[in-house]
Amino acid sequence: MFGLIGHLTSLEHAQSVAKELGYPEYSDQGLDFWCSAPPQIVDNIKVTSATGQIIEGLYVESCFLPEMLAARRIKAATRKITNAMAHAQKHGIDITALGGFSSIIFENFNLDQIRQVRNLTLDFKRFTTGNTHTAYIICRQVEMAARQLGLNLSDATVAVCGATGDIGSAVCRWLTHRVDVKDLLLIARNRERLQALREELGRGRITALEDALPAADIVVWVASMPKGVEIDPDTLKHPCLLIDGGYPKNMGSKVQHPGVHVLSGGIVEHALDIEWKIMNIVNMDVPARQLFACFAESMLLEFERLYTNFSWGRNQISLEKMDLIGQVSQKHGFKPLLLES
Ligand code: NDP
Repeated sequence: MFGLIGHLTSLEHAQSVAKELGYPEYSDQGLDFWCSAPPQIVDNIKVTSATGQIIEGLYVESCFLPEMLAARRIKAATRKITNAMAHAQKHGIDITALGGFSSIIFENFNLDQIRQVRNLTLDFKRFTTGNTHTAYIICRQVEMAARQLGLNLSDATVAVCGATGDIGSAVCRWLTHRVDVKDLLLIARNRERLQALREELGRGRITALEDALPAADIVVWVASMPKGVEIDPDTLKHPCLLIDGGYPKNMGSKVQHPGVHVLSGGIVEHALDIEWKIMNIVNMDVPARQLFACFAESMLLEFERLYTNFSWGRNQISLEKMDLIGQVSQKHGFKPLLLES
């Protein structure tokens, strides 16, 4: 059985969907209450592969909210993640994806040091960040959506915001070794990590976000921002492709401009309907078929009986692993989400 650990994008979002999730009493509660709420299994899932194989899974709502980081409620945030992991393991789930901020909190606060959750010893082999599949899907979205817009990658400037992150660094590796892009702009806050990435890649220009945006034909957003930034579409190139892979979104509001094409990044579409309700709650456009690529990774590992933490640690995603997860993704009927034609 596979599992997904997820969370909602804001306190307002959490309050508005509490009833649908099965706990209406949470709907008028503030951050303090959510800080002490336990994890809950809120969905039973059945997925049929394009090969006909059927698997079952559970969705664990961790009750973490990005506002906990902004309000420096770090203990509450970390407890949410370890408790949700223990909950998944206690329910016998073989492989669980740590969605959205779950894996970021796990890494940033060294939760690998906390193996014991009450009477349960966490077995990290049962968890995956899902980032290899997410990075693979975002790279395919760059290639395929550029083609949709008639953008030639070998003439294009691609900016990666969050370049030094787990997903961002894998995307940069792919853009360096697998495709020919004219210019690669690297954006993040920590200069040392940016320089280390540039050295590893042997290319890329470290650029401030405000300088990168007007220069880029394609922007890949994979920064771990609890709240999105506002973009003025008039300052961008036209056409410009914005692939927003953040959860919550890295872009603060919907960009409305005929020359700016926004694509939800790290989202896959399955060939067949999935039996679940959770993607309605996170407002997917086609909730029966569309999902986060990290969640799809735990499904793929279950289909392949690969019970291992396929994606783990930071900045260790290899091109070979991206190829492997990409191959099984196609085999089981997942496709990268593309621009509407
Ligand atoms: P990491 O924590 O590994 O990396 C985050 C990156 O963002 C770092 O390069 C960090 O560098 C940079 N960053 C953070 N804040 C800012 C800022 N204000 N301005 C510029 N850069 C910033 O995160 P992941 O790679 O694991 O995840 C990235 C995003 O992808 C997250 O939003 C996550 O929720 C989402 N995600 C989506 C999935 C999907 O299935 N679609 C799956 C998994 C994750 P620095 O700190 O130096 O600025």
